Amino acid sequence: MNRSQAIGFARSRRFWTPMRSGAETAIGVDVGGTRIRVARVSRAGELLERVIEPVGKDRKGFADQLLRLVDDLRTDGDAAVGIGIPGRVDGNSGEIISAGYLDIVGLDLASLITRRTGLPCRIENDATMALIAEGQARPEGAQGLIFMITVGTGIGGAALKDGAPWYGGGFAGQFGHIVVARDGPLCNCGRTGCVETFSSGTALGRLITEAGLPEGIRADDLLARPRTGDRLAAVVLDQWASPLQRAIESLVAVADPRLVLIGGGLGADMTRALERLPRRSKWFEMPVEAASLGDNAGVIGAGLRAFQAVRGAEGGPAA
Ligand SMILES: [Zn+2]
Repeated sequence: MNRSQAIGFARSRRFWTPMRSGAETAIGVDVGGTRIRVARVSRAGELLERVIEPVGKDRKGFADQLLRLVDDLRTDGDAAVGIGIPGRVDGNSGEIISAGYLDIVGLDLASLITRRTGLPCRIENDATMALIAEGQARPEGAQGLIFMITVGTGIGGAALKDGAPWYGGGFAGQFGHIVVARDGPLCNCGRTGCVETFSSGTALGRLITEAGLPEGIRADDLLARPRTGDRLAAVVLDQWASPLQRAIESLVAVADPRLVLIGGGLGADMTRALERLPRRSKWFEMPVEAASLGDNAGVIGAGLRAFQAVRGAEGGPAA
């Protein structure tokens, strides 16, 4: 049994890693649709201490929970706080425009945190936070243009240019809304044909039902099946992944990134499903890899982004 299991709580889980003396640290917060993770992170991206709880859904409950968790974890050595939000966040201002099922639109979380703790605070979309961590963890570093596509309930995205988030006028990187068909299910954005409606986890569930496969079967079960000659599983996987392949080709045609990472809860499965597909055009071939940090990418990236907020507060480049 490892230490995190030994110290498990019913509501929250927590683990400790001894901190090196003199290490500079920041607090990262990853707000998910169902859980909130808060962690102390070193400048090198090490996860030093982490708490996970079910996330408060109502506005007041969420704000109280956030402040309590940050307060509990905070030490005098922490430099700043970064918070990743599952939804539309204006990258330039940090304003929360939408947040799925969470009632936090328009909440000024950065001011709340700064008033309580005195620390600078940076808010970003959660995919941006995850990509910052994944970029720093790459053996070759985060130089150049790197895209990330997160596959979960929906499809999110983020762009990193030479290690810093790139969001154009404020909202670039919403790769789930690349249109790949003239028709299709209605998307949350009000259009039809967005890749999110074909290649998300939600879409996979619909494809499984339509194919008459057992309800609750998982993507990795399907991936294990084609090897045993299961035609139906192969068709479902290809229907799920090929719209995303088309979207990635369009991304490459527009921006020619150095690398496309596939993250989110279904990122590893989607990467394997993409690898099964035949290459359609040499023009748009591109390294596509599964993200490597798993569930911790968002909270580590939020901590790393916090350090950049400190640089901005001190008059340095805020990135
Ligand atoms: Zn859309």
